[in-house]
Amino acid sequence: MGIKKNIALFTATLLNKDCKLIAVSKTKPISDILQAYESGINNFGENKVQELSDKHEQLPEDISWHMIGHLQRNKVKYIAPFVALIHSVDSYRLLKEINKQGKKIDRVINCLLQVHISEEESKFGLSEQELYEIIQDEDFIKLHHVHIKGFMGMATFTEDKEQVRKEFRSLKNLFEKVKDEDLPSNMQMQELSMGMSGDYDIALEEGSTMIRVGSAIFGSRNYL
Ligand SMILES: *Cc1c(COP(=O)(O)O)cnc(C)c1O
Repeated sequence: MGIKKNIALFTATLLNKDCKLIAVSKTKPISDILQAYESGINNFGENKVQELSDKHEQLPEDISWHMIGHLQRNKVKYIAPFVALIHSVDSYRLLKEINKQGKKIDRVINCLLQVHISEEESKFGLSEQELYEIIQDEDFIKLHHVHIKGFMGMATFTEDKEQVRKEFRSLKNLFEKVKDEDLPSNMQMQELSMGMSGDYDIALEEGSTMIRVGSAIFGSRNYL
């Protein structure tokens, strides 16, 4: 298996860079995750609540679990007690539900706002206008049990590298713009989650602080 070798390559790539590797372990078995963990990886990403919860229960406690997939409001409660960062907050209603569940268990839950940057219709995410509507809402500052740490974005799935670069750059520009605003205390622009197996190199050049890499570490996924 090449998991350890792949991780060594990513670790070398990220050396001296201010960027974390989130190993996306969706569909992959516990044994694969343990191999990555033994190679020094502590951050794992999953896109389904059930799988995230199951793996959290079975694996070492010092792993930080990242929710990277679309999250339904009725499932927030299952991950609220342990999730390290929710990358995929794509509505105000979802953010309020995360706050509600955080309040119940007296935990502040770290979140990223997912911004729509791709040309594809199907991908989730907020427009710039929707994003501003949330952070400028008078009730936003009262959400004491969420902490917005930055943004997440997914580029168009295309061979056109200049298109991908343009999209990452637009997200980085928005990140810097919002960072310069007078932000409420539950929001701090620190993390920019962008880049996957096919485009992490471009994302790094455009200022990513978290790359979410699955297949380039664990091999291709078989969806049954
Ligand atoms: C699956 C997934 C990834 C990782 O994809 P790879 O192409 O396998 O690296 C990253 N981000 C999100 C949101 C995903 O769903």
